[in-house]
Formats: sequence, C-alpha cells, structure tokens
Amino acid sequence: MKVFKKCLFLFITVVTGASAQTKQDVKMDKFISTLMQKMTLDEKLGQLNLPGAGDITTGQASSSDIAQKIEAGKIGGLFNIKTVEKIKDVQKIAVEKSRLKIPLIFGMDVIHGYQTVFPIPLGLSCTWDMALIERSARIAAIEASADGINWTFSPMVDISRDARWGRASEGSGEDPYLGSQIAKAMVKGYQGDDLSRNNTILACVKHFALYGAIEAGRDYNTTDMSRLRMYNEYFAPYKAAVDAGAGSVMTSFNEVDGIPASANKWLMTDVLRKQWGFNGMVVTDYTAINEMIEHGLGDLKTVSALALKAGVDMDMVGEGFLTTLKQLLSEGKISQQEIDMACQRILEAKYKLGLFADPYRYCNVKRSKTEIFTPANRKEARSTAAQSFVLLKNDSQILPLKKGGKIALIGPLADAAENMTGTWSVAADFKKSVSLLSGLKSIGGKNTKISYAKGANLTADSALETRSTMFGKSLGRDPRSADVLLKEALAIAQQADVIVAALGESAEMSGESSSRSDITIPQVQKDLLAALLKTGKPVVLVLFTGRPLALKWESENAPSILNVWFGGSEAGDAIADVLFGDVNPSGKLTMTFPQNVGQVPIYYNHKNTGRPLAEGKWFQKFRSNYLDVSNDPLYPFGYGLSYTTFDYSAIKLSDTLLRKGQSIRAEVTVRNTGSRDGQEVVQLYTRDLVGSITRPVKELKGFQKISLKAGESKVVTFTVTDEDLKFYNSDLNYVAEPGAFKLFIGTNSKDVKEVGFTLQ
Ligand code: BGC
Repeated sequence: MKVFKKCLFLFITVVTGASAQTKQDVKMDKFISTLMQKMTLDEKLGQLNLPGAGDITTGQASSSDIAQKIEAGKIGGLFNIKTVEKIKDVQKIAVEKSRLKIPLIFGMDVIHGYQTVFPIPLGLSCTWDMALIERSARIAAIEASADGINWTFSPMVDISRDARWGRASEGSGEDPYLGSQIAKAMVKGYQGDDLSRNNTILACVKHFALYGAIEAGRDYNTTDMSRLRMYNEYFAPYKAAVDAGAGSVMTSFNEVDGIPASANKWLMTDVLRKQWGFNGMVVTDYTAINEMIEHGLGDLKTVSALALKAGVDMDMVGEGFLTTLKQLLSEGKISQQEIDMACQRILEAKYKLGLFADPYRYCNVKRSKTEIFTPANRKEARSTAAQSFVLLKNDSQILPLKKGGKIALIGPLADAAENMTGTWSVAADFKKSVSLLSGLKSIGGKNTKISYAKGANLTADSALETRSTMFGKSLGRDPRSADVLLKEALAIAQQADVIVAALGESAEMSGESSSRSDITIPQVQKDLLAALLKTGKPVVLVLFTGRPLALKWESENAPSILNVWFGGSEAGDAIADVLFGDVNPSGKLTMTFPQNVGQVPIYYNHKNTGRPLAEGKWFQKFRSNYLDVSNDPLYPFGYGLSYTTFDYSAIKLSDTLLRKGQSIRAEVTVRNTGSRDGQEVVQLYTRDLVGSITRPVKELKGFQKISLKAGESKVVTFTVTDEDLKFYNSDLNYVAEPGAFKLFIGTNSKDVKEVGFTLQ
C-alpha cells in the first residue's frame, strides 16, 4: 500500500510538474507568436542586432545614434552599458518610443565577479570547490543585476592546454571532467532556478567551440581537430553547461572543420540543437560574422546568410544581419522562417528574464546602492581568493610567515592595486582593490614592520609594458635604471628577516589578444629575484600570473613559491591571509605547468603513443621524448601543497569486477600528518587499458575536497559505474568497453596509488 501511495504521489508530481511547465511554455509561445504577428520584417531584424553601447552616456541617451536606432526598432539588446540610471534611460526609449515597445536585453562580460571581483577563472578553478564557484557566480549575478545587467557572457568553458594562449586565464584549465563540473556550477550560480527573478541573469556559454585549441596559442588562430577529440576532450564542458540549462551560447572566432564557428551549421544546429537539445539563443562573438569575410568565406551578404542558416540568432556588433538579411530574403537566399526562428529565440530569452512583464525589473536604484561591493560579498571574494592560491613549493617551511617580524616586500606587483583583479574585470573600480602591500600591512598588524621597494619594472622593454598594462592597469613605470631600482630594493632587503618578492605577469599579460611566445617571468624580474636570493635571506616568491609559466629556474632556486594568479578585488588581503597562515593554502593546479615553452601543449590526459618513454626515464633513442628536456611537467595537473601534509593509504576496492549497470566502491584513508588543519582535494583517475580507439593514460573521474584537522584521518569513498568509463568510439557512439582498467587515487595526477579492475 505504502509503495502504491508513493508511486501515485510520484506520478502526480511528475504529471503536474510537467503540465505546469507546459502551461508556462504555452503562455510564452502564445505571447510571442501574437507579438511576432505584429512585427514588420525590419522590426524582426532589429531584434537580431546587438551593438555595443558605445556613445551612450547618462543624460545623452536620447540624442545618441544608438538611441535613434532603438526608437526605430533596430536594436534587440545592448552590451557594455552599466548602471541602473543609464540602463533605465535606454530601456525607456525602447518601451516608450519604439512602435512595439519591445524591451532590450542588456549584456556584459561579467566574467569573474562584478564590482566585487573574484579570482580569474583559471584561479577560481583551482579551488576545486563547486559550491564556492557557484556562489561566486551567484554574487556576480546579484551585483550585475542590481546595476541593470541581465545577461552575462560567461561561463567561458574552452578547454585549454596551451599556456601561450592568453585566454587560458578565462577558462577552467585542461580537463573535460572538471571543466564540466565548473560549467554547471557557473550556470546554476548565474541563472538560479528562476530566470525571471530580478537577481538572476542569463548565462552565455562560450566560445562554442574549440577556441582553446587554436594553433600555437596565438589568439584567433586556426583550429583543426578530429571529431573524436572534439567529442571526447573539448565538447564536454559546453554540453554540461547546456545540460545545466544555460540560456544562451556564443560562437567562437575560430574555424571548426574548415568552417568558422559562426557559419558552421553542423556545430550550431546538428550538434548544439539536435544532439544536445539546446533551445536557447545563439549570439556571435564580437563582429564574428564580419570576420568571416577575412576568413575567406565571401562578402558580408554571403557570410550573414551563412550565419543565419547555420543557426545563429543574434549578431554582436557587426550589423551584418541588420544590413543584409532583408535583401537576402528578397533574393530567396534565406527564408522568412529562418529569420522568424532567430527572432523568436531572442524574444523567448527576454520573456524568460521577465522583461515583458516588467522591462525595468533589473533597474532598482535601491538595489544598486545596497547590493554591490558589500562587505559580505567582499568577505566571500577574499576567502574564495585565498582558496584559489596554489602553493608550488615550500622548502624549509619558510611559509607561513610570523606576524611581528620585519618583511621586505619587493617587486613590480607588490603595490599594484589596479592589477589585482586581472583580465576581464570591466565593472571593477580598481582604486578599491586591495594591493599586496596594503594587505600585508593590515593583516600583519602593528608589530609587523613592512618595507617596500619596487625593485624592477615589469619588463625592460617599455613598449611591451605598455601593451601589457592596458585598460587602466598601469604599473606606473619607474623611469630610473634597473641598477638603481635593484640597489634600492637590496638596501631594504638587507634590513629584513624575510623577503617577499611579488613578481610575474601584469593583469593584461593574459586575457584576450595577449598571447605570449615566451612564458617565463620577464628577465629583469628574474635578475631581481636572483639578487634577492643572493642576500641569503629567506625569500618567498609570490607569483602573479594568468597562465601556467615556465618556472624551472625559480623552482630550483626560490625556496617558497605561492602562485596567486589574479585574486580579484580582495587579493591583497587574501594573499596576506595565506602568507601569515591564517588560511592554509589548498588550491590545486587545473593546468599543467611546463618546464619550458617547447613542451607546450602539455597535459596530463595525453595518449600513450606507440613509443612511450619508460617510466622514470628522460631520454631513450627512438622513443617519444626530447633531447633537451624530460617529458615531465614542472608541476602536474592537480598539484598543490599545503602547510600540512597528507598521507594516502592503499586503495581498497569493493570488487575487482564491475558489471554493467552496477557499481564498485574505491576507498582510501587520507590522514593529515602535519601539525595544522588543512584541506585536501582527493582525486580519482582511471585508465582504460585496451580500447577500440586509443585512450588517455589517465582521466579524472571524480574528486572530493575534504577538511582534516591536524592528525585526523578520513575514509574517502568514490563510486565507479560503467557510466564513468564511457567515451565516444569511432562511430561517435558513447560506450563503455569491457576490459581491464586501472584506477588511481592521489593528491595530484602524478602522485597516485593504483589498483586494477575489470569491466565485464
Ligand atoms: C570576446 C568575448 C566577449 C565579447 C564581448 C569578444 O572579443 O571574445 O569573449 O564576450 O568580446 O565583449
């Protein structure tokens, strides 16, 4: 009886749930089809147009060129405009002056926080903490929506294995599994469970697809890869974001299989919509339609037609759709149905955001005054940043520092508030960011004596420094000679108990259009570090970077290295929290650090080749290796130290035979063997030993972040099913193939315990 009641209850919930959903959809469909019946062709094309806000400033809204277009119904949304006042002004034109009063959608690159800035995404991913990552997106959504924004061009989920690519900083690193978990968490954080709430915003998964695989790490370059690699390695995070309900997708600049993404019907329609069931809207990247002229696909008319036919709905900035589709329709080169479809999807997004019910839903002046850059948000950003830092080395336990001593803080990034937020922090007020100098002073307290010197400019090459410090992120180049700067630094270093060297990249040395062929710390800073090390004082290298760097010399010579990425608006306090040991570092790398740039692309989940190097060897003739460097990374994927140490027991498997549809359990006991409480990311990998296609030497399949008090042990259990072992075979069928597997559990992708099992 009980079982029957339960079933009945389930049945009713499912049925009523489904019908409520359908009812809403029916209501939306009806509203939109009624509206579309009233729309002229021009008005429909207007919806497909997404210009940047450009010349709009508060008070001038009604006289600008954009304003006239809005009034004429030639704009569907705007991006890069913020503040409630401005957005209200502009929305007013749309809903009061345009014929059909269709509200605009307002987008922005809210990438890692809004005014309260969280660590750059690559750093954030190193927390391996999904709840924390989701909260960071939630806070970003609350702040952005309090300032009038309802659409973010995030998450960026491009897998990247090439440290030369500046945009590696914007993603979650090299792993499809971890990348997928993060993609989901971000979408949930932005969109919540009800898009029409005034503090949730539409997510936009980007850049679809394969942008992270551009050749030579040179931005906007060509991509070419097998479908197998797409499906098995690069597609997963996009699909995860779509599965999580992401409302929009952005096309990538690069080509996929010889066709730029924005014209790629296979990608935008067959994969995205038909295979994955995506029913939201597709927007191009910035002028991506127009750029197809340079790609060599034809004139603006031709490429606009290709984009629409491929399944693109909205044209960012280029106005190819606005200016060519009408003629293309009259020539019979595109259909009315294709235009209607695109228009409908954009209107649906607006509907779901609740903009038709209230176009000013996101324009609440009170919220803009009380919900942005709040102490609570900043506190969260600070603790998140502290968790994103990766302790790369800590010989002789120089860290944590004692409060109360004399610290010499030296380096071009030491007193650089403008650079703390990193790339893509368009809404940040840099003046409010906390520099490392200020963080050390406030967290160190009165009894800690801090002296500061810049020690060196970012690079010897002033033109390179200019290119690397754009968007108001100047480091204030010091006109004095390198020698004078060095002497000044050494003078304060001599007086100190410990030297903290704040070196590395500036914020804009990574990010869009910031690729590097040399991924080392600039020489002038290395010279500074060498001189500081020569003093014989303990030196802590606090490394700022937006990408994995080649740090062989530093790793051999500096006793302690804390990689702090770009930690966001609260970075300075967060770094001080970790340096002084108030927070024990727990970040783990999500992208492999190479020994040198020649090893790039280097990633843990590579194939074995037919001539793998024997374990522990450097060079063997006629094996897959280099003459001049070993195959090892400098720091592997998943790597990161703590102020405490962890010990892993051998793995206990519940069974060595895994039957289809069933599961086995893998268990390890992890013990905190040090004297401090700490957090550890316990990582599970598998290897499929024999397959119908070649399989990676390791694949992350699970992880758990655990807290352990000093001396405490915990049993960590993972469940493995055949679902976890699936991959796309040669026919692109998603299958798990019976046979022998290895299972690894460990503290990073290299240092692992190992057992074997068989899938029946
Ligand atoms: C970038 C996108 C971004 C867009 C709008 C483009 O250049 O590739 O990631 O969302 O600009 O700012």
